[in-house]
Amino acid sequence: LLSADGSIRSTIFAEMSALASTTGAINLGQGFPDEDGPAEILDAARQAISGGLNQYPPGLGMPVLREAIAAHQKRFYGLEVDADREVLVTAGATEALAATLLALIDDGDEVVTFEPFYDAYGAVIALARGIHRTVPLRLPSFLPDHDELRAAVTDRTRIILINNPHNPTGTALPRETLELIVELAHEHDAIIVTDEVYEHLTFGVPHIPVATLPGARERTVTISSGGKTFNTTGWKIGWLTAPHEIVTAILAVKQFLTFVNGAPFQPAIALGLGLPDEFFEGIARTLQSKRDILSAGLAKAGFDVFTPQAGYFVVADAAPLGYTDAAALCRELPALAGVVGIPISAFCGEQLAAEYSSLVRFAYCKKVDVLERAAAQLARAG
Ligand code: PMP
Ligand code: GLN
Repeated sequence: LLSADGSIRSTIFAEMSALASTTGAINLGQGFPDEDGPAEILDAARQAISGGLNQYPPGLGMPVLREAIAAHQKRFYGLEVDADREVLVTAGATEALAATLLALIDDGDEVVTFEPFYDAYGAVIALARGIHRTVPLRLPSFLPDHDELRAAVTDRTRIILINNPHNPTGTALPRETLELIVELAHEHDAIIVTDEVYEHLTFGVPHIPVATLPGARERTVTISSGGKTFNTTGWKIGWLTAPHEIVTAILAVKQFLTFVNGAPFQPAIALGLGLPDEFFEGIARTLQSKRDILSAGLAKAGFDVFTPQAGYFVVADAAPLGYTDAAALCRELPALAGVVGIPISAFCGEQLAAEYSSLVRFAYCKKVDVLERAAAQLARAG
């Protein structure tokens, strides 16, 4: 049964990918890369399978991956994480989010997120019987207003759930906002849950993990995933790092969701996390140039473009083209331009959906020739 309030429904991503496949349009809707990541990672998974790593791995995740996650947190952010007590491997960031919220929320506890928000957040908060409060990200920068953030967090708040860098807006949260989040979490004894799946995909701005701020680490669950960094979204290897007691609570839930996951992929992702700096710099550079190709195409077609600082997606306003209903435009776009995008309203509650009704999200994590073709088709149609 789907929920009456619409928080649990078939995902917009599946719907839009189906539209792309029935119409043959270029799929700039669902965010997944159309190219494989590094060959050595793919080889490592093949070797793990032929080497017999095909049975249940340990519940916390394989030691080789937990150690690689801890080493990655140290190398990139200076964070000391205990690989045996403070790391949990999950079925993608999605399971990490679900297990965390199910473990930490009691009926009626409030969860504060930014809005627009990734669709799973609303659904999982509802599954956990929490109450969802949101703070809008305001145009044109898609940053939150600090007074609105202050007002949203109260003693009823159990979790402040942030997504940094943010899907769909591409905002990389500035230090001042993260400081305020830590301050509010202390003031109201809330836990910070931070979804950092786009941590390595920032363009000329730093990624600041909230756990690196003073006083944050002991009340923060940091979630990430191999999918975006290594172009392995289908492997569903994610993880979280948190203080030991919190990991223990989340593990209690995780064991009844999936028990364990993806044995042969775990050593492969471990290898990926240890790749040299040039790899990580290279993926951000390549993606930035893809962002620029698609953004230029959208601008040429007549959209107002909000250039993202990070991630897979660019938000574009169709109002200058005369479209105020992006949901309707997205249904017509395959016929008009042979392209699929996703209306921002899919990431919003009713009120903000109305305010942001002319905004569309396009994914640029695609091959250059695909983006150039999409840009040309959009420009012709515009
Ligand atoms: N969080 C955000 C913000 C995302 O965009 C996505 C989609 N890739 C996920 C979580 C899910 O990640 P995973 O595929 O690792 O479950
Ligand atoms: N995270 C991806 C997006 O925002 C898709 C994930 C999914 O299909 N659930 O498009």
